[in-house]
Amino acid sequence: MLDSLKKMFTGNESDIPVQTGSKPDISREKSAELYEKAKKYFPGGVNSPVRAFKSVYGTPLFIQKGDGCFVWDADGNQFIDFCGSWGPLILGHNHPKVREKVTEVMQNGMSFGAPTALENELAELILKNNRYVEKIRFTSSGTEAVMSAIRLARGFTGRDKIIKFDGCYHGHSDSLLVKAGSGLVTFGETSSAGVPKSFAAETIVIPLNDRQAVEEAFARFKEQVAAVIIEGIPANNGLLLQEPEYMKFIREACTANGALLILDEVITGFRLGLEGAAAHYDIKPDILTYGKIIGGGLPVGMYGASAEIMGHISPDGGVYQAGTLSGNPVAMAAGIAQITELSRSGFYKDLNTKAQEFVASIQRFATARNYRFKVFTAGSIFWFAFTDQEHIRTSAEIDAGSMEKFKVMHRELLNRGIYLGPSGYEVGFVSAAHSKIELEKAKRAIFEALDVVFSNK
Ligand SMILES: *Cc1c(COP(=O)(O)O)cnc(C)c1O
Repeated sequence: MLDSLKKMFTGNESDIPVQTGSKPDISREKSAELYEKAKKYFPGGVNSPVRAFKSVYGTPLFIQKGDGCFVWDADGNQFIDFCGSWGPLILGHNHPKVREKVTEVMQNGMSFGAPTALENELAELILKNNRYVEKIRFTSSGTEAVMSAIRLARGFTGRDKIIKFDGCYHGHSDSLLVKAGSGLVTFGETSSAGVPKSFAAETIVIPLNDRQAVEEAFARFKEQVAAVIIEGIPANNGLLLQEPEYMKFIREACTANGALLILDEVITGFRLGLEGAAAHYDIKPDILTYGKIIGGGLPVGMYGASAEIMGHISPDGGVYQAGTLSGNPVAMAAGIAQITELSRSGFYKDLNTKAQEFVASIQRFATARNYRFKVFTAGSIFWFAFTDQEHIRTSAEIDAGSMEKFKVMHRELLNRGIYLGPSGYEVGFVSAAHSKIELEKAKRAIFEALDVVFSNK
């Protein structure tokens, strides 16, 4: 077994015979039944829209359990999972260390609404690994963390406007559900019903990878901009890799204009390494937001800054922010256990190397076949794009029509036991639980799926 796998690893991707037959659809009977019921209770049958499988084939799969790199649905289908609950599960599902710590802490009760030592413990683990922030506050989601960071920036600077980038996602608070209007530097337009126009008018939306747009926005709204917010690595609308010099430029533009830089690391925090994207670019943000991984699969968000800036948060300062379940002991326990594992020496090197080998092989395969397909990647994050562009740095460069191809790929992959997030705009994650054997299996399935996608071009 191992010997034959070794042969597979060193094999040449271009020698693999073309596979063009679709596989029959897996049974989704139980999931379909549950979905019918769910539609009675929840809008679209779900509690977060992307889960409804609107951009891929079939009814959403209802997941029954997860273990390591696998999930099982209600019909008993097993999948190698690359969604990882959208990022938090860097150790894979149901990691024994996380489960044990959560189980232990739960014996003492679930919530007190009073301080616990566990909050200190998780804060120490985060701050020890971060030279950019001195004080933090825990929230219950990434959305809350970013919303609070924006309020803090406004409270600290006494200014109202924020600059955000088209193609970056920062959760669903009102100020951030704003898309670009027409023209290079304009007031945003709401991207959701229910967001007042007057809120959107406080958010300026500009394209990524465009220095002039940043300069124009600052010039036009002189001394009105409280903060510029950008994702550490934009990874919620494809993987829009930015050049380090551009990130440095944004940092400098903020400083020159008296605005704060909010680096939203909800997805990148503890994903690329212990210090996230800030260290990756070597830029110092004024406010950082984290989420996802620091909760180990439970609801946790966090924002942090220098002691001076955080001094503006109540009860020390005048910027109000609170939470009934903030710093929840069970959630803290999961975060402590997870970050303790991540802190082991060599963790990120092993994970990132494994992930990079995986995506490089997929890219070699697609290139050998002349498929119009590119894998964009950073650390253990990857994004499948049906394109021949060497770089995609802005959302405008994403070809919406190519999502039809992703749709076919997604179905072929599910039918081969591979679970990707149900949208071509979403990235995938390799976790520490993906062994070489499973990654090899996944690669084979991806090769076949690509052959099917490109067989009827
Ligand atoms: C996921 C995410 C959020 C929102 O976090 P939730 O926990 O879903 O509210 C905000 N910003 C970024 C960069 C994210 O990836």
